[in-house]
Amino acid sequence: MKYSLEFDIIVVGSGVGGATFTDYISRENADLKIAILESGPYFLKQNFNQKEIDMTAMYFNRGAVLSKNLQIGVSAANTLGGSSAVFTGVSFRPPKSVMKKWRDNFGLDFLSEEYIKQSLDEIEEEISVHELPNRWDNENNRLFEKGAEKLGIPVKRLKINTKDCKQQGFCNLGCTTGAKQGALEVQIPKILERGVKIFCNTKVISVEENLVNVLVTDAPKGTLTNTMASGTYQFKAKKIILAAGVLNTPAILLRSAIKLGLKNKNIGRYITLHPAFNTNGIYTKAISSFKGFPKSVYTDHFSESDDFYLETSFYFPGVTAKNNPGYGVSHQEVMNEYSKMMSILILVHDDAERNNRISIDKKGNTIVNYSINGKTKKALIKALQEAAKIFFAADCEKIFLPASKKLPLVKEDADIISDIISEKYLNLFKTPMSSAHPQGGARMGKDPSNAVCDTNGKVYGTNSIYVCDASLFPTSVKVNPYETIMVLAKWVAENIFKT
Ligand SMILES: Cc1cc2nc3c(=O)[nH]c(=O)nc-3n(C[C@H](O)[C@H](O)[C@H](O)COP(=O)(O)OP(=O)(O)OC[C@H]3O[C@@H](n4cnc5c(N)ncnc54)[C@H](O)[C@@H]3O)c2cc1C
Repeated sequence: MKYSLEFDIIVVGSGVGGATFTDYISRENADLKIAILESGPYFLKQNFNQKEIDMTAMYFNRGAVLSKNLQIGVSAANTLGGSSAVFTGVSFRPPKSVMKKWRDNFGLDFLSEEYIKQSLDEIEEEISVHELPNRWDNENNRLFEKGAEKLGIPVKRLKINTKDCKQQGFCNLGCTTGAKQGALEVQIPKILERGVKIFCNTKVISVEENLVNVLVTDAPKGTLTNTMASGTYQFKAKKIILAAGVLNTPAILLRSAIKLGLKNKNIGRYITLHPAFNTNGIYTKAISSFKGFPKSVYTDHFSESDDFYLETSFYFPGVTAKNNPGYGVSHQEVMNEYSKMMSILILVHDDAERNNRISIDKKGNTIVNYSINGKTKKALIKALQEAAKIFFAADCEKIFLPASKKLPLVKEDADIISDIISEKYLNLFKTPMSSAHPQGGARMGKDPSNAVCDTNGKVYGTNSIYVCDASLFPTSVKVNPYETIMVLAKWVAENIFKT
């Protein structure tokens, strides 16, 4: 064990949860000594080369941490700025109905409509949230609108948080111009200026009351070098804020449970993943989805009735290859059509279930235990059927879907969609289900028998340990979660000295 550093506050993880918390707490308390410990490296903007093979190094397990049953791959970044360094920038306020549920069922009374509005008016201005201008819509987005409108499905425009976006389309490989207003651009420069110390390549193994046990490893080639030699260290802090994301905050708590004397059986439980399928239709000619902004429209038409959203999407060749069905020659045939691909992302609202959880193996590594229930399966099928209808209405000639009787589906199949896209063709071991919106695992709530953290984010049964990221969500927020994480982080920062 090497020497020990001492801080007033240590924040574990530099994603939007950790960075927003640090921004708020350092604004009001200039005299506090604060450090962020980040397991990932510091990739500088100039290192973002837009090559998929290189830039997936920013993610845990190159972008897909597989669930134990191998049915879903979870994407989260292991880099300074966390997933906000690779996210698309789609900005949603949390739905009022979900916030009511969080107030009524989990005692999160602070999430009043007034508090959320006041917080998000301020936050959205700071991170430059705005509606996408129509002139940025590429053919992929226009086709979605055309197809949906033909079917009478109302389409809405997405809001994003960018400034001077050059529409390069490489959001998920790091923004080379810094247009995307994630933690790397908004909070991290400010907190560095206020004297907050950031240690990259510094993985938190476990925490004890007022103590953080870490392992520092060498900075990977092409990233900023460390200020500390590699090795194990113990840092001291009056308050410790876990913001290591859903894959890791619960794992840190589980690795620390014995020393902390934590008996809470809810740690790691009730994760939701917002399971997604990225589906593709083949249009009559090349549509260059990489031009303009990748996604500008969506529909929430099926949200209340059938539990899903449809958003437009665009992915790089490697991810697209992973997302498409087929093998060998049949798979090559799909990929040959890459330039003509219209894409729709299906996002299903899954339930928070006790057995869906983060656990750890004998070495302390994260295990994602996740199965979809009958309701989610039904929603996925209905979403695939509706996506298929939109592809055909947009004049796609062929469609490749994960749960259809045959591949590809062609125009003549449009009249028998409910027969040929059904649950009996859904083999979850052969479909590329993915998640970029993990939530829960250290849920917040008034009742410790049903939660891990109290309504100020403090871990029940501890004196100095808090959570401040998407792990706090008691259920799925149903929309892309970035803004909701920021509201919770702001609240934890505002109240940390009151508890
Ligand atoms: C490709 C992609 C696109 C997305 N697009 C959108 C979008 O358009 N809109 C939207 O709302 N959401 C989007 N999301 C989701 C959104 O980015 C995340 O929900 C959000 O950024 C999560 O923030 P967080 O702070 O909870 O966790 P994270 O961002 O995961 O941050 C956790 C941080 O902790 C670090 N860490 C982990 N373990 C340790 C440890 N042991 N010690 C120290 N540090 C550790 C990680 O490296 C990471 O930096 C997207 C996600 C992905 C992956």
